[in-house]
Formats: sequence, structure tokens, C-alpha cells
Amino acid sequence: MKRLMKIKSLLTLLFLVLPFSFMACNKDENLNASGNTENELQGKIENEFQGNVIIIGAGASGLAAAKKLEEEGISYQILEATDKLGGRIQKNENFADFPIDLGAEWIHEDKSILNYLINQPGNEPNVETISYQPMNVQQVVDDLIVQIPNQEMVDYYAGYIKEYKFKRTTWYDFINENFAQSVEQNIIYNARITTINYTGSQVVLTTENGTEYQADKVILTVSIGVLRSNVISFNPPLPEKKISALQDVEFLPGFKLFMKFSDKFYPDVISFETRSGEKTIYDAAYGKESQDHVLGLLSTGISAQEYYLLGNSDAIVDSVIQELDGYFDGLASQNYLGSYIYEDWGQHTYTQGTWTSDFEKSSKNLNDSLDDKVYFAGETYNAHGIAPFQEFYIIRGSVQSAILSGYEVVDQILE
Ligand SMILES: Cc1cc2nc3c(=O)[nH]c(=O)nc-3n(C[C@H](O)[C@H](O)[C@H](O)COP(=O)(O)OP(=O)(O)OC[C@H]3O[C@@H](n4cnc5c(N)ncnc54)[C@H](O)[C@@H]3O)c2cc1C
Repeated sequence: MKRLMKIKSLLTLLFLVLPFSFMACNKDENLNASGNTENELQGKIENEFQGNVIIIGAGASGLAAAKKLEEEGISYQILEATDKLGGRIQKNENFADFPIDLGAEWIHEDKSILNYLINQPGNEPNVETISYQPMNVQQVVDDLIVQIPNQEMVDYYAGYIKEYKFKRTTWYDFINENFAQSVEQNIIYNARITTINYTGSQVVLTTENGTEYQADKVILTVSIGVLRSNVISFNPPLPEKKISALQDVEFLPGFKLFMKFSDKFYPDVISFETRSGEKTIYDAAYGKESQDHVLGLLSTGISAQEYYLLGNSDAIVDSVIQELDGYFDGLASQNYLGSYIYEDWGQHTYTQGTWTSDFEKSSKNLNDSLDDKVYFAGETYNAHGIAPFQEFYIIRGSVQSAILSGYEVVDQILE
């Protein structure tokens, strides 16, 4: 059992540091994920709120909020700092013979949640998925690598939520097809908001190049890392309670690295013990029907900070290859094909970290709006239980949490 607990704490990609953020939610079959009754969807929706809304950020939560506003017939615009949509959901299609998720990769729930997130009936999603239950797992403790016995893995999966991955597609494809395509015409790219003035009846937003936008309501979906970094200044300043609620949430730096090899000399997963955050090396092609051999490294918290000290991505790759050589008798450098992708979410100005992971100390002030004018949405703010969920575990800090929070915030505005 003790061993199993250890495995749990090491299996990075299973997000096991988040048990307190799981919430089973009530089932209400008359309501769908975006909170509409069937009657509302069939007939014309009448809302008291008839103003305009600006959404800051075209990640999963901003796009979900936009889709709901579109359905509700409310006027909205999305202002996105970068030149692309998706936020922490991005993909690379050139590196291997399967598309690679550069940010979010796993579906941390049963695959049927995909239908729920887009208000489709039935349990079988309209996209191929693979059950993610790798059995060949090795663990590094004190620089020694050991195989986890099969039975321990079987027991482990029996006691944990189901997890899936997309087989031929990515999270990016999912949000692009199901959210972005119906709202993309309303996205303004390269619009980096630097100030939010909510002193008047309308909220005034100013971009880096001085362009002003005004809205009755603003939905702010930027990450906790961006909020803490003061990229955006508020007038009046954020209330003390909000600032301390933001400080209480864990939001760690980190990166993903993918390296290509000529042979598969490694197991499905190599998990590492870390004092904070995650470090996992995994077969990125697991279940993908790929001819390529791609190893992923997901590193957050202390392990990421240690890698950052090496100075650049080439040095990080050298160090990881050397580390693998130590565990696999030099096979890493013998098989390394010399190409890698490095996506550093900790250093991106408009992300400044990976995902929210520790809510133990967070208070209810986290979700409070600013004077009912500026509302917060995103992976961090999914308010379990306010909206009717089905029997899903909604892990905060996940794509599903971001999407559901986008729906919830629109409900809040329309109430
Ligand atoms: C490495 C990594 C691995 C992950 N793995 C998984 C996983 O396997 N499964 C899972 O479910 N989740 C995973 N996650 C978490 C998941 O990606 C996020 O929870 C989710 O994508 C967050 O969506 P969001 O809309 O809340 O925020 P974001 O995606 O961060 O969207 C916010 C948007 O706001 C924009 N923005 C920021 N500042 C400004 C500004 N000043 N002005 C205008 N726009 C601005 C940003 O550019 C961005 O597009 C992972 C995340 C990372 C980084």
C-alpha cells in the first residue's frame, strides 16, 4: 500500500496531487452542460441582460463562454494577446506521424465527458480515443530505476478515475471544432490587455498599443500566473481578498519536451519522485498506431526549476539524454535522432505557468467578480455544484474545468 501511494505521488500525468479538487456533481437530465433547459434550446432565449460582453483570452474557457453567448444571442468580442487561439491547448503536426499535444494531453475522466462538454447525447464521443492505462511503468527512486509489478498497476487503475487520450487528434482539434469554429469571427488577435478600468458604468480595457475597448461586462480568463505577474493593472486595484485568494492557489512553472528516437528502448512511463510538482517521462506514442518513437517529458515545479538552471533547451535535452543513458545503459544517446520540441509554459508571458494544482487553502473570494462588472473564468474557477453536472469528477486545472467555468460565468452574467 505504501508503495502504491508512492507510485501515486509519482505518476505525474495522472494529476494525483489534486484529490481535493475532485467533486462529484449532481445529475440533472433536463439541463445540459451549458446550463440550458431543452425548452430554452428549442425556443427563443430571452435574457434580461442585453449589453455587450468582452472576453479576455481565447483559451478553452474563453471559447466556451463565447459559444454560450453566441447561443444566447448576446453581443460579444474576444480579445486574445497572442496570434492564435487555444491558450494552453496547442498542437504540433510536423514532428511525428501523429499530432502532439504541446499543452493539455490527457482526458482526465471517462471519454463520455467529451459529449457532455459539447451538449451531445450518448456516451460514445464522435472522435476516437484510447483508454490510458499503461502497464509497463518504471519508477526512479534515489537514482535507481525499478519496474512496478503488473498487479500493482492493475490495483492502481482499479482505484482511480478513468483516463483517456485522443487517438488520432488532439485537445486542440476538439476545442477548435466544437467551440472556436462558431466564434472565431469575433476574436481579435494580438490584443494584449494591459489595463482594466472598472470605475465607470462601462468597463474600459486598454491594450499594449493603446487601443481602448468598452463593455458592460468583462470575462477575464487569463491564468493565475498572468494575474499574479501584473501584466494587467486594475483600476481600482484588485481587492486584498482577491489578491490573497490568488496567492493561495498553486500554479507551478513547467515545460514539455518531446524527443525522437530510432527505437523504443524505454517503458510506457518513467515516474520520478519530486518534492513539489511533477516529473514524468512517457511514451508519447502510446496507443497511437505510430511508427515513430517519441518520448515526452512533463516537468513542473522543482524539477522544472532545476532544468531551467541549465540555461537553454539544448542543454536540457543533453541532460535528459544523459539521465536516460544512466537508466538504460547508453541506449538513449545511441538511439536519439537529434530532434526535439520544447514548449515552455512557465516562460510564456501570457501563461506564466502550467495549471492550478493546489486548492486546499483557496477561499471563496477566488471566484468573486469585481463589482459585477469583471468576472473571472478559466480552469481555476469552475464552481462545482453551481451548474448542474452529470456524474463526472471535474478536476480543477483541467480542460473540462476551463470549459465548464466558461459556461458558468455566462450563467452568472445572465442571472
Ligand atoms: C504542460 C501542460 C499540460 C497539461 N496537461 C493537461 C492534461 O493532460 N489534461 C487537462 O485536462 N489539462 C491539462 N493542462 C491544463 C489545461 O491546459 C488548462 O487547464 C486549460 O487549457 C486552461 O484553459 P483556460 O481557458 O482556463 O486558460 P488559457 O488556456 O491559459 O487561456 C487564457 C488565454 O488568455 C490569453 N491572455 C493572457 N493574458 C492576456 C492579456 N493580457 N490580454 C489578452 N489575452 C491574454 C492567453 O494567451 C490565453 O490564450 C495542462 C496544461 C499545461 C500547461
